[in-house]
Amino acid sequence: MNERVLAIYPHPDDETIGKAGTLINHVKNGDEVTLICATMGQMGRKMGKPFFANRETLTAIRKKELLDACEAIGIRDVRMWMMQDKTLQFREKSFLADKVQAVMDEVKPTLVYSYYPEYGVHPDHDALSDATILAINRLPRKERPVFLGSVISREGQDELGAPDIINDVSHVVHEKIKALQAHRSQTEHWLVAVTDPSISVQERKELLEKQSQEQFWIYRHKNI
Ligand SMILES: [Zn+2]
Repeated sequence: MNERVLAIYPHPDDETIGKAGTLINHVKNGDEVTLICATMGQMGRKMGKPFFANRETLTAIRKKELLDACEAIGIRDVRMWMMQDKTLQFREKSFLADKVQAVMDEVKPTLVYSYYPEYGVHPDHDALSDATILAINRLPRKERPVFLGSVISREGQDELGAPDIINDVSHVVHEKIKALQAHRSQTEHWLVAVTDPSISVQERKELLEKQSQEQFWIYRHKNI
């Protein structure tokens, strides 16, 4: 059975860093993939290296980067909410949950990707994943999609233990690198090593190996 995948993240690049290979695999499997990107990361501090963005141009630049990354991944259905970066934590949880629910009602996901609540480190990550869990919990138990969370914090990894899913994405790592490169304003400072002729074969191999594994934790629903 094909999956219906809904990826729910606050910022452009969240869908790519640590997840692009997995999403590419879904697209290749013929699964339907929808992405919600709630903000344009307008408040990001990275402006490219060397700088090519400023506070005024960053929104348009990141929007273009997001669309380019989605093209590299193969996601055609992108929902851009254009909310203000770094404000999700100040919105009512039910307001965000309603917005998530509206998309879930439409695409009826079998799998939801987001950050694992409480362990996303960034307040926007946690606010949106919290609201997503609320939206999922409104569904009858049998209709709930599986929630696959990314854990960023060390505390979360200690608490939850080993990831439930480790995807080997080595066979699509070059496509993933293209998606990472699309987010140039955010990734160029470290990604340059992939194309830098001065780095050793070993260094490049290690960098690609690091990008070849993606891990997720299945959300453990409390008794609701
Ligand atoms: Zn983010």
